[in-house]
Amino acid sequence: MIEKTDVIIIGAGPVGLFSIFELGLLNISCHVIDNLDKPGGQCAELYPEKPIYDIPSRISITGQELTDDLLSQVKPFKPVYHLSQQVEKIAKLDSNDWLVETSMNKSIQAKCIVIAAGAGSFVPRKIPLKNINHLEEKNIIYAVRDKSILEDKEILILGGGDSALDWTNELSKVANVTLMHRRKEFKASPDTVSKMFQLQTDKKINFFLGQIENIEDLNNGKINVITKNNNETKSFEVDFLLPFFGLKMELGPIANWGLNLEENLIKVDTEKFETSVPSIFAIGDINTYPGKLKLILSGFHESALMAQQCFKYCFPDKKNIFRYTTSSKDLHKKLTSL
Ligand code: FAD
Repeated sequence: MIEKTDVIIIGAGPVGLFSIFELGLLNISCHVIDNLDKPGGQCAELYPEKPIYDIPSRISITGQELTDDLLSQVKPFKPVYHLSQQVEKIAKLDSNDWLVETSMNKSIQAKCIVIAAGAGSFVPRKIPLKNINHLEEKNIIYAVRDKSILEDKEILILGGGDSALDWTNELSKVANVTLMHRRKEFKASPDTVSKMFQLQTDKKINFFLGQIENIEDLNNGKINVITKNNNETKSFEVDFLLPFFGLKMELGPIANWGLNLEENLIKVDTEKFETSVPSIFAIGDINTYPGKLKLILSGFHESALMAQQCFKYCFPDKKNIFRYTTSSKDLHKKLTSL
């Protein structure tokens, strides 16, 4: 089934989120796609608790607070979010619309595409072993999308950050979980770490120090994970291995979409923030132009000008009448509709 909307926004970082607002003011509907399982981009993923001091009129606001406020601000425009999936392909249809396909086989059709992809997709750091690609999604899972497949299974979780410990604590309720980390110190929050040690004391989970050395496919649906701590080798026969080694940013499929790139950034004009391909726009950290500053406020400005041009593609027969939010009754009604 193909879902339809006016504009597809690739990236739910602060700039992608504010675009929903600017487009919404012009009655343009949006679907937003992000590879992460939550909106907020770098703000939510890299510095949720750190203060930002250069958002106009906000003396100080954390990355997560900014994300939460943006999500509330765009709510009246009822955006549709598609999270935990990467945009892989874009194609032009005979109707001149775009068709976007995601890694979860979702197809969405729209008049314009807005790329607000920051420095690219956040993707998991993978296990540095060769010849294990065929086990990914089968026995090795980097992001839990469907918890039910893990029920009553033998699971080995690797890592010492919040994701590793949160999943250890959560899955201990439904599966046989072992956690392995390479050292005694954890990056996860102290609360989560205490909870994990309590579960270990209560014999609800196992915890070992060590590092992965090899993985053998047992060809019976299970794998044998061989680990080492100093000179001691330990093997774990498990159904699933869940490595949580953090995320890295990769430009990913955007490089193959025929756009004019300069050092992995998309070149745009500064009047409309349109790319070399008509009706595809690039805003925020992903674009480049003379004088570009990679700041959230630059991305906000870019989204306002981008929306003006999108209007022309979405409503070619209508005139766009410029309105202030302070004085338009129609906008007041929309913005206070929730
Ligand atoms: P991002 O926030 O990078 O979001 C892009 C999103 O697109 C990501 O969620 C990614 O998963 C998604 N994505 C990419 N490709 C795809 C794809 N193919 N399919 C699906 N999803 C995709 N800026 C300031 O103005 N003030 C500050 O004080 C400040 N402090 C900072 C502190 C730190 C530690 C860091 C790292 C950055 C800071 N910045 C600051 C920079 C600011 O965070 C960025 O300018 C801002 O996040 C850019 O927003 P964006 O929406 O363009 O991209």
